[in-house]
Amino acid sequence: MSISQAIEKVEARYAHQPEFVQAVKEVALTIAPLYDAHPEYKKNKIFERLVEPDRIIAFRINWENDKGEVQVNRGWRVQFSNALGPYKGGVRFHPSVNQSILKFLGFEQIFKNALTGLPMGGGKGGSDFDPKGKTDNDIRRFCYAFMRELHHYVGKDVDVPAGDIGVGSREVSYMFAMYKNLTHEHGGVLTGKGVGFGGSLVRTEATGYGAVYFLENMMAAQNDNIKGKKVLISGAGNVSLHAAEKVFMLGGVPITVSDSKGTLYDEAGLDQQKIDWLKKQKDQNKPLADYVDVYGGEWFAEQKPWQFKGDIAIPSATQNEVNEDDAKLLVENGVKYVVEGANMPLTAKAVDYICLHRVHFAPGKAANAGGVAVSALEMSQNSVRQYKSFDQIDERLKLIMKNIHDSAADASQKYNQTEDGYIDYVAGANIVGFKRVADALCAYGILN
Ligand code: NDP
Repeated sequence: MSISQAIEKVEARYAHQPEFVQAVKEVALTIAPLYDAHPEYKKNKIFERLVEPDRIIAFRINWENDKGEVQVNRGWRVQFSNALGPYKGGVRFHPSVNQSILKFLGFEQIFKNALTGLPMGGGKGGSDFDPKGKTDNDIRRFCYAFMRELHHYVGKDVDVPAGDIGVGSREVSYMFAMYKNLTHEHGGVLTGKGVGFGGSLVRTEATGYGAVYFLENMMAAQNDNIKGKKVLISGAGNVSLHAAEKVFMLGGVPITVSDSKGTLYDEAGLDQQKIDWLKKQKDQNKPLADYVDVYGGEWFAEQKPWQFKGDIAIPSATQNEVNEDDAKLLVENGVKYVVEGANMPLTAKAVDYICLHRVHFAPGKAANAGGVAVSALEMSQNSVRQYKSFDQIDERLKLIMKNIHDSAADASQKYNQTEDGYIDYVAGANIVGFKRVADALCAYGILN
């Protein structure tokens, strides 16, 4: 079966899973030259195998809220591929979570993890539980109940979850406590743990910092740098606020952040004091809009950040938050670099538009791989029970992001050279990640 036939099959079978189909098509459309150069991939049906997860575990979560009411939620773990190492990928708590979203995230995660060069397979999990408006007791009870089910299927050498939207260090700690309680094991079953009990320094910052390190490499390839550049960032969570922090540290000027209620615009730029204030505000679930009363700037309810002039955009909230119209605004507003802090924040049409207009574009599976890379470093620190300093891990992170950048750029040159020298990081990242997994699968025969 050719790749285009395989895509048709996925589209027909999973028409009800649009995000998953979108992610599969993006990979499929870019790996054709690699596939042609390796007939063993076709013979071993590598693509057809990789679009089907090893397994999807679905379960019910019963828990009792603060008012004593019984609650019922759905939970899933998609164990996509363990070709390169234990399944690895975050857990998302958000009412929009369903199998399509978790399959798209798990599929992306296979290649992202492969790109880091570290020994991890790909997986993803989550629940339709909505943490908004819940008390700390509610969150604790839900996390305990979630892990009561999930613990059957995970383990430090089997499947190692972490955080994602709605799951930060508080939730990871509660889940870790339940796992430890049920199994009597204190090990690396989850990453993103508190630094005092097995967590790695830099894990909290890693995704946002890593995205900006990728950006630095991308700009260096154009003889450019971040100093004084205006940066539009969406989201006000883990990824976005740490991306803003690193932009500021490197001399750039982050001028927006956003959340599901609207966008905060501060022409003067976010500095460390303002970013610390935003982190505290979000930790306490307080409105982003309050910022205006403290530091000035403007609040734009129900609006996205792409209407403002800027040099760089780092969408870091959620999937498909940048559509084709937004992409047009980015180009009109002078944006020259787009770096996906979130997973698949651009629709396929938005990616096509900005690439056509020669905006330099870093796909999430390359640009936001810093988080999972430091998770892998957390796993190895847990195994040897020795912990590295902040600077040591940060240096490793920088090097990993440089390697990801360089290998994606090299693969783009090798397999997808453009006449004007434009680097196709989408094709490059997909090719590098896919090749590493495909080679392992070919070596295993058909047992994976
Ligand atoms: P957080 O929960 O910390 O923050 C998410 C932010 O995005 C919040 O400000 C939230 O606003 C906003 N947001 C979420 N959904 C929407 C929406 N539908 N419309 C507008 N805003 C929205 O999540 P993370 O920062 O951890 O994750 C953000 C993205 O980065 C996700 O795509 C995730 O998969 C990806 N990612 C995260 C990694 C990590 O290490 N955390 C690693 C790699 C990728 P509100 O609070 O109002 O909902």
